[in-house]
Amino acid sequence: MSAQTDAEAQDNDRTTVATVCLGGCSGCHMEFLNIDHGLVDLVEDVDIVASHMIVDEKGVPEADIGIAEGVVTNEENVEVAEALREHCDTVVAWGDCAALRGIMSLRNYQDRDEMLEETFMGEADDESEVPFGDDEGIPKLLEDARPLDEYIDVDVYVPGCPPDADVMKESLEALARGETPEIEGDKLQYD
Ligand code: SF4
Repeated sequence: MSAQTDAEAQDNDRTTVATVCLGGCSGCHMEFLNIDHGLVDLVEDVDIVASHMIVDEKGVPEADIGIAEGVVTNEENVEVAEALREHCDTVVAWGDCAALRGIMSLRNYQDRDEMLEETFMGEADDESEVPFGDDEGIPKLLEDARPLDEYIDVDVYVPGCPPDADVMKESLEALARGETPEIEGDKLQYD
């Protein structure tokens, strides 16, 4: 049996993190990239095993920490959220949409079917249809958009639209140390 290399030993020590984008604008993930050079420090402690802007992994792999951005707005989001809860020890809601419903829930004030009709059929010709459901390969839109904890248990909330990059980094570092992040005072933001 070959001896474990230093790099392999370090990999085994790192906290694994998977992030997913539900019904969000990817703004939370963009802000995460604003950690900028801090990402280099972060990956010494954290192994990002899934994250659509960083890693080419389409599924939700097993991870110590699972992070979700966005509301639960369609049937696929429900499946991804449930997989996140099943595969990850700690689940984090990133941003106002996942934590509180946020701006992505404005659609709740309109009737879903009327909204789809208006969006897809307003200027369409007679051949057009509203793409709605599995037959078109498009996830079925739920009646309304809801925050993550209406579908699965959430352990940590990092509010903001988007949350501040430094707060995202600090909260992840705390979780990697096995601590509960303290997000209060100036670190709490709702815009
Ligand atoms: S919280 Fe803001 S930045 Fe994040 S997904 Fe929602 S709208 Fe986008």
